[in-house]
Amino acid sequence: MSLVTTTEMFKKAYDGGYAVGAFNVNNMEIVQGITEAAGELNSPVILQVSKGARAYANHTYLVKLVEAAVEENPQIPIALHLDHGDTFELCKSCIDGGFTSVMIDASSKSFEDNIALTKQVVEYAHAHGVVVEAELGTLAGIEDEVVVEAGKEAYTRPEEVEEFVDKTGCDSLAIAIGTSHGAYKFTAAQCTRNADGILVPPPLRFDVLEECIKRLPGFPIVLHGSSSVPQEFVKMVNQYGGNMPDAVGIPEEQLRQAAKLAVCKINIDSDIRLAMTGNIRKYFAEHPDHFDPRQYLKPARQAVKDMVAHKIKYVLGSDGKA
Ligand SMILES: [Zn+2]
Repeated sequence: MSLVTTTEMFKKAYDGGYAVGAFNVNNMEIVQGITEAAGELNSPVILQVSKGARAYANHTYLVKLVEAAVEENPQIPIALHLDHGDTFELCKSCIDGGFTSVMIDASSKSFEDNIALTKQVVEYAHAHGVVVEAELGTLAGIEDEVVVEAGKEAYTRPEEVEEFVDKTGCDSLAIAIGTSHGAYKFTAAQCTRNADGILVPPPLRFDVLEECIKRLPGFPIVLHGSSSVPQEFVKMVNQYGGNMPDAVGIPEEQLRQAAKLAVCKINIDSDIRLAMTGNIRKYFAEHPDHFDPRQYLKPARQAVKDMVAHKIKYVLGSDGKA
């Protein structure tokens, strides 16, 4: 199988009551960890590249790494997606450069300007066999160069979604229902604390999601900022010399619930970073004399694989759906 678009993936996910994981890739170990897990569990998967990843690793390296993963895992569908494209030119460059899906994120612009830019990208993408994700509403948090201050976020207005999808022709829609980018998704003031003193974030706005689904029956919805920030990794980081107090994410049960509804794509990035960083810190603490990058990147890659396998089985529900 060569790289595919998300069209067929989303149709099956919508009908089957599960979601496809969209994991951010920045280097070889991350690509391998994700796709080995998806391959072994026979799950479709989306590998996504941000503007920051392209700046770090270079477009060609990332595309070739993903092509290698496709060759090594011929039994599963893999899509290559641009995460948070902010201009027509960036989207065009990825469409021309081998991506099968792009996101145009014009959600910080006015409703009219968002429609105009999204439509322009859709026209170019569709003419080249590529699909487009758009966004309505804004998430709080930090993702590469996308920074939205807490308090400046805005839930998606369900009354706008039909007109937006109609006028733009986009293939999927990212909505804001309370997820957030980064490993510090909520301030302590927004949360309560459980018996162990761990922050418990406010619940996702399922009422907004349900209202969007009602207005867009059969249409794939996307959730960004959906890492769960597993406390085992936060603990590991803090135990071995790190300092990440009060890092908190979206509870996995809520994501599982969203995946059973119209949410067909769930974005996960911070959990990959945490799994790698926690395990590398642990490795160095336990082996202060080691200096071969293969020695510490091997457990980091394994941690990504185990984390992704857990998401596929218990959060996304996409195992066996390739
Ligand atoms: Zn995002």
